[in-house]
Amino acid sequence: MTNLIDGKGIAAELRAKCAEIVSNLISNGIVPKLAVIIVGDDPASHQYVNSRAADCKAVGMDSTVYELPSDTTQSELISLLEQINVDPKIHGILLQMPLPIHMNPDEVVVHISRDKDVDGLHPINIGMLGSDKPSFAPCTPSSIMQLIKSTGVPIRGKNAVVVGRSNVVGKPAAMLLLQENATVTICHSKTVDLKEHTMQADILVAAVGVPGLITGDMIKPGAIVIDAGINRVDGKTVGDVDFESAKEVAGAITPVPGGVGPVTRTILLMHTLDAAERINAGN
Ligand code: NDP
Repeated sequence: MTNLIDGKGIAAELRAKCAEIVSNLISNGIVPKLAVIIVGDDPASHQYVNSRAADCKAVGMDSTVYELPSDTTQSELISLLEQINVDPKIHGILLQMPLPIHMNPDEVVVHISRDKDVDGLHPINIGMLGSDKPSFAPCTPSSIMQLIKSTGVPIRGKNAVVVGRSNVVGKPAAMLLLQENATVTICHSKTVDLKEHTMQADILVAAVGVPGLITGDMIKPGAIVIDAGINRVDGKTVGDVDFESAKEVAGAITPVPGGVGPVTRTILLMHTLDAAERINAGN
């Protein structure tokens, strides 16, 4: 019988741990704080960043949301980042993507302090991840790992297939699986015969952005299936996995919504607390 991986429940447990860490930090005189920066007026992005601030509040953390107009120049944004980098009261920085088209994200993210880069965007943090050095991994791949580990199934030696190779989800998820000694295959839009690969997966991660791309007949019986996809279809949020057919075959599967998303939000808090502890310890 398929186990539903309860992302909301796992997130609630992690939030309770965060609240404990926050109260320890506060008793040592440190109020952990996240800065969230958003440029432009996309309503969905504004809703997203405001809920990050609410997440902080719920565990006793502080946050500031910087809402910059869409005509903000790249150098103005970089100046703000540099100011936040040296603000001792701020421990984590979340720069909401995408940036307006007149900005070059590669030129901007290098100005996020590596120590406060809680969403793992800085190229040095990406490189550190690729060379197995401690760093902040992006929040969604970290959430994917947390959900896989919640099943209790050892990752070592398993065949893991990641569908999607973006820098924010697919590739870092593959790196993290490799760090845990899985044998990893990365598939993408040029992969010939996707099913041939997914059928080999003991652990299957979908991070594509194509609703229902992975169907039950593409899944190895008993596999752990993690669906990072967020797609709007007929007013509903659905994943990249066709949940109804997949749940008949998978050993464990995340729902969408209620799987990767809630844990990702909590990982952002955990990374900010890690940053506060590291900065406090002078590391
Ligand atoms: P990108 O668009 O950056 O990357 C999508 C990847 O999927 C690409 O590597 C692309 O291949 C691959 N792909 C596209 N079509 C196919 C196909 N038919 N078969 C196999 N591979 C394919 O998306 P992201 O990585 O940013 O996001 C992926 C999904 O995850 C989206 O639904 C997004 O909304 C969601 N997401 C979820 C988050 C969460 O917290 N749950 C956070 C961030 C994203 P190629 O490289 O060849 O183009």
